[in-house]
Amino acid sequence: MNQKEQSKKDPDKEIQKSEDDKKNQHHHGRGMQKPPEEEEEDIRARAPIALVVKAPRGMQDVLWEDMRYWDVVNDTFKQVCTSFNMKHVSVPVVEEAALFERSIGESTDVVEKEMFFVKDRSGSSRLALRPEFTAGVARAYLENGMSSKPQPVKMWYSGPVFRHDRPQAGRYRQLTQFGAEVIGEGHSIIDVQVIHLAYETYKALQLDAFRIDVNTVGCMNKNCRPAYLNSIKRHAQDNTRKLCADCRRRAKINPLRIFDCKEEKCQMVANTAPKITDHLCEDCKNHYQNVIRYLQDLGIPFKENPRLVRGLDYYTRTAFEIISTLPSTDPLSGMALGGGGRYDDLIHLLGGPPTPAIGFSGGIERTIMQMKSEGVEVKVDDAPDVFLAHLGDLGRRRSVKLLDDLRRAGFKVGEAFHKDGIKSQLRNADRMRVQWTLILGQKEALDNTIILRNMESGMQEILDLNLDSLVPALKKRLRHEIQVIH
Ligand code: AMP
Repeated sequence: MNQKEQSKKDPDKEIQKSEDDKKNQHHHGRGMQKPPEEEEEDIRARAPIALVVKAPRGMQDVLWEDMRYWDVVNDTFKQVCTSFNMKHVSVPVVEEAALFERSIGESTDVVEKEMFFVKDRSGSSRLALRPEFTAGVARAYLENGMSSKPQPVKMWYSGPVFRHDRPQAGRYRQLTQFGAEVIGEGHSIIDVQVIHLAYETYKALQLDAFRIDVNTVGCMNKNCRPAYLNSIKRHAQDNTRKLCADCRRRAKINPLRIFDCKEEKCQMVANTAPKITDHLCEDCKNHYQNVIRYLQDLGIPFKENPRLVRGLDYYTRTAFEIISTLPSTDPLSGMALGGGGRYDDLIHLLGGPPTPAIGFSGGIERTIMQMKSEGVEVKVDDAPDVFLAHLGDLGRRRSVKLLDDLRRAGFKVGEAFHKDGIKSQLRNADRMRVQWTLILGQKEALDNTIILRNMESGMQEILDLNLDSLVPALKKRLRHEIQVIH
């Protein structure tokens, strides 16, 4: 619809527009035209958007009904991390694309197929939305000189990451990860602490239907992973006709990718491939054995999985995943809830000194799906403690101040100050499932009293409006602990 048609259809807008034109003429001097760029910016002259605007594919809104799960996952993770003496950090959602290309690896799915690129206005930088946290946190470690802090540095984070994958249940293009990184120590006990942290998080969320898979991917010592890669390459060549086109190509660059391929035929080739545990150098073998021993000491249940390699290039030594063991009828069955591993070469690759490190990240959306499938209940009491209704102008004016006082005293207060009639205010209170309503009218305001109504029984009583007596009187009736906001 052009502007003329719009005006024809909407006489109110036409009047409004000519009023505005007059104001503008006055403002710019009589008879002067507005500069063209200002004309373009005049929002009132724009036609309404005729499209139904949808969220981008694979990205979703979270409303408050679901947000209670999000809050529980975030709060639980924060508590667990704090108990492991971890510090909270935040890194940018956008980074130089090269950071991810160099660290995650150019031949990985995440970089090759799933990265979202971002254009900045100058066009001089190549930016990308973060597809994971580890690279950004490693960059932050270097850029902020964290190597001068007591080592290792233990950090946790949570936030959105972006992967241009094919959306389906449990697979989104904007997903949210919570995770932790321990940078600056290579001892195997650290690996176990990070696995322990992940385990504690899922257990604290009352989840049971998951298992922890553990493996090692060795190191870049030529007698370790490189030797293993050669044997995998030979295996891939021997089975080349059984592989998908992607794996055939990748087998030459990074044959470990075959283990991550979702194609059934590639998984069959992977299942008959040699195991890395038969190709480890002495140090990696010891490291792995220690990890297994410490896990057993702590009583953390796990399964050794020699096929677990994880999709990103920067992993060294320990790799682990938390896999959903929900029944096969559940869309999440067999999917990873979280995963992590050691990345001892990454900081050096980014230009820092050799610095060992290990991390873990979990997906919030999948964790919540798992909680729902396992029937974990998240109780919410979103009803206000009390509803404040008013009568008349004086009642409303006193109520506005009273609401603030009650809020500060720790009460969650519902109201409908925009309404006049008491009936419709009480209807709102009912809809909020509130148990108690305070009613403040002209008479009460003058007498310094207030009516307290029990919404269930309809019984009413008169209380002193003085806060010193009103607050304890309300607390007595609510009979639950109220936190005072200072
Ligand atoms: P990754 O870095 O790929 O191991 O991812 C860590 C965790 O993030 C996974 O275990 C999942 O829980 C979650 N995740 C990864 N990709 C997606 C996705 N596309 N959609 C939803 N969750 C995801």
